[in-house]
Amino acid sequence: MEKNKAIIYLSEKGREIAEKIRSIFPEAKLYKFKKELLHEIWNKYNAFIFVSAIGVAIRCIASFIKNKKEDPAIIVIDEEGKNVIPLLGGHSAEANSLSLTIASFIKANPVITTASDLKNLPALDLWIKKTGLKIKNPFLLPKIMAKFNSSKELKIFLNTQVKLPFPKHFSLVSTISEADIIVTNKFIKDVDENNQLVLIPKNLFVGIGFHDWIKEEDLEKTLKEVFKEAGFYWEALSGIATIQKKGSHPALKKLSERYKIKLFAFTSKELNQVNSSSPPGASMKTLGVASVSEQAALFSAFTEFQKAFLCVPKQVFKDLTIAIAEGVYKIKGKLYIVGTGPGDLENLTPKAISILRSSDFIVGYKTYINLIKPLIEDKEILAYGMMEEVERAKIAIKKALEGNVVSLISGGDPGIYGMAGLVLEILSKNSLDLEIEIIPGISALNACASLAGAPLMNDFVAISLSDRLTPWDVIEKRLHLAGKGDFVIVLYNPKSKGRKEHLSKAKNVLLSYRKSETPVAIIKGAFRKNQEIILTTLKKIDLYPIDMQTTIIIGNSNSFIFKNWLITPRGYEVKYGEKLQFSSPSLG
Ligand code: SAH
Repeated sequence: MEKNKAIIYLSEKGREIAEKIRSIFPEAKLYKFKKELLHEIWNKYNAFIFVSAIGVAIRCIASFIKNKKEDPAIIVIDEEGKNVIPLLGGHSAEANSLSLTIASFIKANPVITTASDLKNLPALDLWIKKTGLKIKNPFLLPKIMAKFNSSKELKIFLNTQVKLPFPKHFSLVSTISEADIIVTNKFIKDVDENNQLVLIPKNLFVGIGFHDWIKEEDLEKTLKEVFKEAGFYWEALSGIATIQKKGSHPALKKLSERYKIKLFAFTSKELNQVNSSSPPGASMKTLGVASVSEQAALFSAFTEFQKAFLCVPKQVFKDLTIAIAEGVYKIKGKLYIVGTGPGDLENLTPKAISILRSSDFIVGYKTYINLIKPLIEDKEILAYGMMEEVERAKIAIKKALEGNVVSLISGGDPGIYGMAGLVLEILSKNSLDLEIEIIPGISALNACASLAGAPLMNDFVAISLSDRLTPWDVIEKRLHLAGKGDFVIVLYNPKSKGRKEHLSKAKNVLLSYRKSETPVAIIKGAFRKNQEIILTTLKKIDLYPIDMQTTIIIGNSNSFIFKNWLITPRGYEVKYGEKLQFSSPSLG
């Protein structure tokens, strides 16, 4: 199924709302409601957003809906755009989350009715989905969720080593009988499968050595017997491994395809990075490996989870040897460094919105968090003060390493005096292995330029006047060189409580290269409630109340002001001259 959204509207009024929603989901398709529409498109989308009365939506979908697992997200928005109601697929198809995104964007009220969300409890079904654990007795899930919603406590017994993020209200217990959930890769006699939810991690790795004439049926049969004997669940099987030379054997390939398990084939050099516990077998002479099965099992488990141990030593059968290793199960977290633009939600990119919505944790500077609050209200938020950027970066890295999806937000663009550099520096200094993605945002320089006119139409430089991390003499040197080069200059961090005189110093440096009448734009709180745009000249630059939310753009020797616009010519006038003349009948 295409992962996409259909937005269905009835009236022209509804169309306006539909169009607005599409602007944050550019891939969504818009449809005007007609009788047979749902027949045509039901199988094409995994989310349907109706801008209509709730009754219309219900009648439309009634004959198509099947069950929680298969149904798409159904969302209804009234034509006044006041309420956003996730009707179906709140958790399973992420309709709740999608509704919150839409509601925050169109400034509507999200009408959430799923119990865990109303009680502010983590959604157990979403947590299981995120961890990748397989549910052995899924029929029990609604009952356990209902129990959790009333007791507000979820007790977990771990029967296998896992490193997972456990949300608030989840606690680990040391006896099976008191647990609501058992995480295990093994059958346990004392577990009551009618009352205790069994979750299976895919953390078992089978290593095998075999003769070439082995058949798939025999391999599978023997493997299943070994699993049964050891009490392991077949669902816990994650991978099957052998030596490189045998890796393309059809029996192995078929088995891995049939059960969707990974197939590993290692060189003897790789296998010898781990030890076998059994005395060297025949493979020592022929392949240079003490025990293909044990070493392949262990090495594949290490490859996947970095921590592993042998749980079934080499078993010898007629045409094959089998060993099983267990990996310490963990899920991979990811750290997004998200540019949130100059301030308002409309200047966030659709990509940034979807990443923020898909994150477990949002970490950031308080002011920036507040600017996007409606969008992230249901997330775990870690807000910090201004100077605490190292702490912010470290906590974001820590949460992601624990297996969470984390968005570290950075105002404007994260790569321009933002958080991206700091995070990457910390990772490189500590050689940390973490998946990172940087989501660009509109920086103060282009947000402010758009409000001032077109000041950056020719070569420009950005200089931060903050000497917290760069010594003042370096800043001063750069001001000299930018002045000398006749660059348009964008000044970030022009002033703060502790540094009142820097702007005047910068002005004096630039006055030795540029006329005192050089046009300047001072932009305060771009795209925020307190937005203010001042057009002035270089000599007056330090006479205005300037704060840390201000960016200053200083024109070059050709920049000029027309009406309320600061313009730096690109060179069209010189090249095309007359051609820029505009004449229309009305202008005479
Ligand atoms: N990463 C940010 C910059 C952080 S440094 C970006 O790309 O924009 C902080 C400085 O950015 C502020 O002191 C100010 O100079 C500028 N700034 C950030 N947001 C602004 C806004 N909305 N209006 C004007 N200047 C802004």
